[in-house]
Amino acid sequence: LQLDGEQIKLAIQKDGRLTEATLQLLRTAGLQFESAKQRLFSVCRNFPLAILYVRDDDIPEYVADGVADLGIVGQNLVREAERPVEELLPLNYGHCTLMVAVPRESHIQAVEQLAGCKIATSYPVTTRQFFQERGINVDITTISGSVELAPTLGVSTAIVDLVSSGSSLKLNDLVPLESVLQSQAALIANPTTFKDEQKSIKSIILNRLLMRLNGVINARS
Ligand code: ATP
Ligand code: ZN
Repeated sequence: LQLDGEQIKLAIQKDGRLTEATLQLLRTAGLQFESAKQRLFSVCRNFPLAILYVRDDDIPEYVADGVADLGIVGQNLVREAERPVEELLPLNYGHCTLMVAVPRESHIQAVEQLAGCKIATSYPVTTRQFFQERGINVDITTISGSVELAPTLGVSTAIVDLVSSGSSLKLNDLVPLESVLQSQAALIANPTTFKDEQKSIKSIILNRLLMRLNGVINARS
């Protein structure tokens, strides 16, 4: 098995919250491949597709670069991408909400009260846009992990972080104020790979893949 120009390359999360549902989607779509945890990539046995296993944060960049033709990643990361990628299909799993939250003891009840405050987040682009649209001036600090700890550590007044059940907020004595973005996993594409030549081999493969994925998603809903 090896990578060659005949396959299209799809980057997916190697090990995380999206991994299992993504592998299941691809398998239900009829793709056959081995996916041992140590692998860097797999080549499908019955379809001209190579699957690359990477960190989710790198997926928009790889797709923008053309290192991968396609990716499956949370919309929360697509919105942060420095260079544009095209979102082809929402996949209806990996649902979560990017949420403004404050320590319970702060008694802050509305985002307007955060004017002039420090906000910690791993999603600076989306966060900046949210506060700008509201006309609220804030000081955004980007941190890559354990954002919920920032208020306790005195790093920020509020956070903007992903939640699904809200249990991790509760655990850290944080209360949600307002939703910034509803997110789910999505199939993304390099904006030029499939556009250059409408009838290129890659475009034909992509259309066959999209038909299979749509089939699974429609059957589920
Ligand atoms: P990696 O090691 O690949 O960088 P990670 O730890 O950054 O992984 P995960 O926590 O596995 O990322 O989350 C991957 C994606 O899952 C998120 O970007 C988001 O789209 C989605 N997701 C769904 N629910 C949640 C949640 N409660 N918290 C965080 N992410 C969630
Ligand atoms: Zn990550």
